[in-house]
Amino acid sequence: MATNGNPNLRPLRVFFIPYFATGHMIPMVDIARLFATRGVDSTILVTPANATLISPTIDAASAAGLPIRTLLYPFPSSAVNLPPGAENLASVPLSDAPKIDAASLLTVNDHDRLLRLHRPDAVVSDTHFFWTTSIARDLHIPRISFHAIGLFPVCVMSSLFRHLPHLTVSDDLHPFLVPDLPHPIHMLRSELPDFLRSNNTPIAEAMSALSDAESGSLGVVVNSFAELESAYADYYYKHDKMTTWFVGPVAQVTGNVSRGAAENPRAISNRERCMEWLEKQRERSVVYACFGSWCHFSSEQLREMALGLEMAGHPFLWVVREGDGEEEWMPEGFEERVKEKGLVVIGWAPQVEVLRHRAVGGFVTHCGWNSVLEGVSSGLPMVTWPLSTEQFINEKLVVEVVGTAVRAWEGRRSTEEGEKEVVKSGDLAVAVEKVMGAGKEAEKRREKAREVGEMAKKAVDVGGSSYEGLSRLIQDIRDFDGGINGCDRVSI
Ligand code: UDP
Repeated sequence: MATNGNPNLRPLRVFFIPYFATGHMIPMVDIARLFATRGVDSTILVTPANATLISPTIDAASAAGLPIRTLLYPFPSSAVNLPPGAENLASVPLSDAPKIDAASLLTVNDHDRLLRLHRPDAVVSDTHFFWTTSIARDLHIPRISFHAIGLFPVCVMSSLFRHLPHLTVSDDLHPFLVPDLPHPIHMLRSELPDFLRSNNTPIAEAMSALSDAESGSLGVVVNSFAELESAYADYYYKHDKMTTWFVGPVAQVTGNVSRGAAENPRAISNRERCMEWLEKQRERSVVYACFGSWCHFSSEQLREMALGLEMAGHPFLWVVREGDGEEEWMPEGFEERVKEKGLVVIGWAPQVEVLRHRAVGGFVTHCGWNSVLEGVSSGLPMVTWPLSTEQFINEKLVVEVVGTAVRAWEGRRSTEEGEKEVVKSGDLAVAVEKVMGAGKEAEKRREKAREVGEMAKKAVDVGGSSYEGLSRLIQDIRDFDGGINGCDRVSI
């Protein structure tokens, strides 16, 4: 390792570089915080507006005495024609999402400059920032990659890139088998992320550089746990020769501490409303519905969702994104009818805290990886409503492999806005009943969800699989041989 003297005698210094999306930033900051709890001096490289987003977490950790801080670099706003302060996927309209990707490709020089200036002992960077592998190699330090998703979706996509089965089916709606996986997974081309459906996205264009950088990394740190995905760690090692360290579910350890809420002015009052309302509800009676940090719905879809939650007949806590049609979607008389039974929160809810509350019994989720993992580790059965990116793949894990979730609808399924059908209220109500209602199958699903939730909690306890995963990762960084001949891999 590029250190002066014996690296075991002084704290390791590790730099973390999260991507400009809340769903990437929250878990990477949690991972940096976990490193800090083990005495690793942790620095998060971040742009100014994104620093504001994570500052409550960093400030709380730092006030608790943990060695953690942020180091700022500029966001290339004018180069990609974004207004000042719009530095995150969650703070731009969906149509501007490609500008965030384009901006990420313009950060090479800043990353290079800061890593060379500060010379940390290792860099943990989002998979988008593939150039950090070669900078790390130059500095003779290891680069550890972070995908912000689990190994199941990573392996599904790796198999698709290798075998291209989706390019040989006759049409988008023809199911195909994803080859070689530990479980028989069938998908539709319409369910795949856009960079697999088309070669014209910035990510698709960067894909070969991304995969070269990946194989030049020391390995991949994963926000998941072995009991959920160990078959896929074996698969990834066998097929892609990648070492992995499970360190999650990270939210289980770090809790909610205003994660990602800083930019949302309603977050604090929403928290009070949610927790007060939940306190009045019966044990495991509430359905919580939330769709992540940047998804949008049409007013028509929101109206059907409202009617579906009402029709299902269970108390519900529903988070609607700010700006999603504001209240024009609300069905006639809805507020009055559900005022005893439902709480609609506009903006941001303290999701991890809500999911852990004794009153919550089920989770309607868009299947963003963090949400899936937070639902799993809270021991909750789920209704899956994937929308975009790799969310339909994540759905397969909880519906078909783990068996703790049911799909919100069975009709046309697509990651493309223009191809989506409006999911009907009746379909949602039926799905909610399957996770909340009576009957042997529902009870079996809930029991299984509780079991997996217990495993998740144990994984992060002292001596658990993820606790040990983090210990191994820190030791592997210490043992890194300097990478004179490239980044040598360690075996799991
Ligand atoms: N989240 C939250 N409150 C909200 C919406 C989202 O705390 O009202 C958190 C959620 O707990 C998760 C993250 O934001 O940690 C969203 O990440 P995910 O991967 O689920 O979805 P994405 O936003 O990336 O689509």
